[in-house]
Amino acid sequence: MRIVRTTKELQQQANQWRSNGLTIGLVPTMGFFHEGHLSLMREARRKCDRVITTLFVNPMQFGPNEDLDSYPRSFERDQQMAEGEGVDLLFCPDPSEMYGEQFQTKISLDKVSQGLCGADRPGHFDGVATVVTKLFNLAKPHKAVFGQKDFQQLALIRQLVADLNFDIEIIGHPIVREEDGLAMSSRNKYLDANERKIAVCLSQAIGQAKKMLADAGGSLPAQEIITMAESMIEQHPECSVEYVSIVHQSTLRPMEIADGESVLAMAMKVNNKVRLIDNSPLC
Ligand code: AMP
Repeated sequence: MRIVRTTKELQQQANQWRSNGLTIGLVPTMGFFHEGHLSLMREARRKCDRVITTLFVNPMQFGPNEDLDSYPRSFERDQQMAEGEGVDLLFCPDPSEMYGEQFQTKISLDKVSQGLCGADRPGHFDGVATVVTKLFNLAKPHKAVFGQKDFQQLALIRQLVADLNFDIEIIGHPIVREEDGLAMSSRNKYLDANERKIAVCLSQAIGQAKKMLADAGGSLPAQEIITMAESMIEQHPECSVEYVSIVHQSTLRPMEIADGESVLAMAMKVNNKVRLIDNSPLC
């Protein structure tokens, strides 16, 4: 596996693979790999001749009071794990390599960035859209794999690709979960043993929401599900709801009636320090 730290080398390698007729699969990440990340790499490996994984904790997508400095990092472990999945190139630039002193461009999407995580994290999705646009231009992928765990991010990337005519197939990959249902996340590392135990309330709320919808014959007022999920989270004094929403799976618009096209999307903070998200279609 080749490790590349400069944009120029990445572009040169991608150009060479393309001119040799090889297909390129891209997996953008912020590192501290877990099985969720590895499943995206495997998917890219299955579908493309060459796999590029990027490992970049993107300062542009963190707010001033967020966890940029403390975000978990473990380069050597990540390197071994990516190599184990047959990744061909690991791109891990310094922030100064991605954003030179004169950098002044921002990609900003309108409706899809609003609400859900966009409401709690102003500017976050501008940072995501900008860095992903750069990565697309650098790695020149035929396909790029993103996790459904970041449901709003996936919708944003699909919109970006459509709006800016990127000739890239976006593949959404299902959420990989721990045995008890907790969605895998690099941020789970911040949880102590008690917090880790109660964090499962998000996926339990998803299970309960699916049951409620099935019991109601496939549709019911969204507010009933929202109230149930909020109380499942808030039964733990350590947990506070950031949002619980029922939105349409493709438009992300809030729905009054939950049905087979709905997604339950949630974010909570544990002890006001660890922010966790989860979501699931309710079909
Ligand atoms: P991150 O490193 O958190 O920015 O995530 C990099 C990519 O991995 C994103 O496309 C995420 O949606 C995806 N991802 C993170 N956690 C999971 C998970 N538990 N299951 C599937 N994909 C995930």
